[in-house]
Amino acid sequence: PIIIETRDISRMYRMGNETIHALRSVTITINKGEYVAFMGPSGSGKSTLMNIIGCLDTPSGGQYILNGKDVSNMTDNELAEVRNKEIGFVFQTFNLLPRSSALENVALPLVYAGYKKSVREEKALQVLASVGLGDRAKHKPNELSGGQRQRVAIARALINDPSIILADEPTGNLDTKTSYEIMELFENLHAKGNTIIMVTHEEDIAKYAHRIVRLRDGLVESDIVNTEVTTHS
Ligand code: ADP
Ligand code: ADP
Repeated sequence: PIIIETRDISRMYRMGNETIHALRSVTITINKGEYVAFMGPSGSGKSTLMNIIGCLDTPSGGQYILNGKDVSNMTDNELAEVRNKEIGFVFQTFNLLPRSSALENVALPLVYAGYKKSVREEKALQVLASVGLGDRAKHKPNELSGGQRQRVAIARALINDPSIILADEPTGNLDTKTSYEIMELFENLHAKGNTIIMVTHEEDIAKYAHRIVRLRDGLVESDIVNTEVTTHS
């Protein structure tokens, strides 16, 4: 089944009298369970497209259908609701709360979802264990390595059981070995049926994805099945 469908979406930014076409016309269909990498030079529109797919922004033109729902013209509040339900975000800079423990960081989205504390902690611990950090629940971000911090961020992204994991340069701040460990984790999430979309500059990292979409000047330059998927298993 289709989970993401963009139909001829565009995104313009006004800068004084200038109009910047960040996305010109992007039509992409992604099925549930796909693992896709977005590549392209700086300024090609990757972040703009990820923001729209992640319901942080809406297109200037065209349609975006997420899980069967047209979200192109939703209000900010409606968009926030869809986002919280459907999307798990992973960032280059982890974006963890520095004074909170791994467990508290992971449990945070459940506070907004209205679960009571004991349930939040139980679920958070479960997800932390699933990313290999069951023994680090009480550690604060500065007591964890970069790779462990990113695992905490991934656990936080997973806690609401989102339809889609959106990862923006997830290995951008990690050394090579740690990057591959994070990719191994993504490989496992993909094998469990998760839908993953990641932006990366690195060919080695993109090779873990099963499909590679390249953007250029706000257009899809190529969209190919990766026949040489890197795998640890
Ligand atoms: P990428 O992520 O591939 O580097 P972006 O989507 O960030 O590309 O940017 C695409 C184009 O849109 C660039 O020319 C960028 O300068 C412009 N752009 C992005 N965000 C804004 C903004 N908020 N205001 C004005 N221009 C923007
Ligand atoms: P960059 O790729 O430029 O380093 P990030 O990966 O930190 O930026 O963020 C990508 C996009 O997601 C930006 O548009 C940013 O405003 C948005 N964003 C960053 N952090 C959060 C957050 N915690 N919740 C929601 N949106 C965020």
